[in-house]
Amino acid sequence: MSSAKIIDGKAFAAKLRGDIASEVAKLKAEHGVVPGLAVVLVGEDPASEVYVRNKGKQTLECGMNSYEHKLPAATSQEDLLAIITQLNNDPKVHGILCQLPVPKHIDENAVLAAIDPAKDVDGFHIINAGALATGGDGIAPCTPYGCLMLLKDTLGDLSGKRAVVVGRSNIVGKPMAQLLLKENCTVTIAHSRTRDLAEEVRRADIVIAAVGRPNMITGDWIAKGATVIDVGINRIEGENGKMKLVGDVDFASAVEVAGAITPVPGGVGPMTIACLLNNTLIAACRANGVTPPK
Ligand code: NDP
Repeated sequence: MSSAKIIDGKAFAAKLRGDIASEVAKLKAEHGVVPGLAVVLVGEDPASEVYVRNKGKQTLECGMNSYEHKLPAATSQEDLLAIITQLNNDPKVHGILCQLPVPKHIDENAVLAAIDPAKDVDGFHIINAGALATGGDGIAPCTPYGCLMLLKDTLGDLSGKRAVVVGRSNIVGKPMAQLLLKENCTVTIAHSRTRDLAEEVRRADIVIAAVGRPNMITGDWIAKGATVIDVGINRIEGENGKMKLVGDVDFASAVEVAGAITPVPGGVGPMTIACLLNNTLIAACRANGVTPPK
């Protein structure tokens, strides 16, 4: 018998996009500003093409302008940086995102560093990472921020809760830990060298799984009533031989003990683009001296 509340990220993201669309309409009516998001894609990675298409579609649906720059895989780093400079200088563009991964001959860090931090709606620039770590007013990375929104919606005040973040990447694990710390959680960051990971997870009121290993965290690792946020997106072969998406948490066993849990798909995934649009709205407000919506 399953007991956990299923956290519906798809519905939450749809509501958030609706709120963003209202704010965009207000910004246009009151200040004549239409937020613009530029997405740069280098190469023909099929998964990246799907992401970029979805981002463009949802940007337009929210009433924002979408600018797509699809560049051949052989594009030089110099040419890519020149396009980023052009976008940095374009007042119609408030958010810039370079879809990762970039081809191997391009230095990812050089690309991230070239984006104007005020337009870095992915929140990956070192200035924004630093702002998050020191309590400044930066732009938070989309996926962890989406997780935080789901957590606050589920639990309310997070103050004093024990959180474990499994994974320490710059794009998910580390910023997630910083956001939880800001909410006054007691945060443990676990990774591949953590000793007795199951025991660390068992101590937590909040479990964030951002590992990239299918079904790794099982129900017997989870404290009764804990809230489980599964960031993992893994493609594995299902019983019928068809590929299916699973998270880093073994949903079937975890749902029996958790208090609340995100499914995969339909949990954290839809929040990422919604938060990207939210960051673009915030960047457009700041660029025009307007107080961003809360
Ligand atoms: P990375 O591969 O960059 O990082 C994975 C982290 O997991 C590392 O810190 C690694 O530790 C840790 N790890 C790996 N194996 C183990 C293990 N056996 N035990 C404990 N820790 C382990 O991945 P990302 O952070 O980029 O992504 C994580 C997952 O989230 C992936 O499934 C990805 O697809 C998904 N994702 C989903 C998004 C969404 O929109 N929903 C967006 C971004 C990512 P160490 O540092 O020691 O190597």
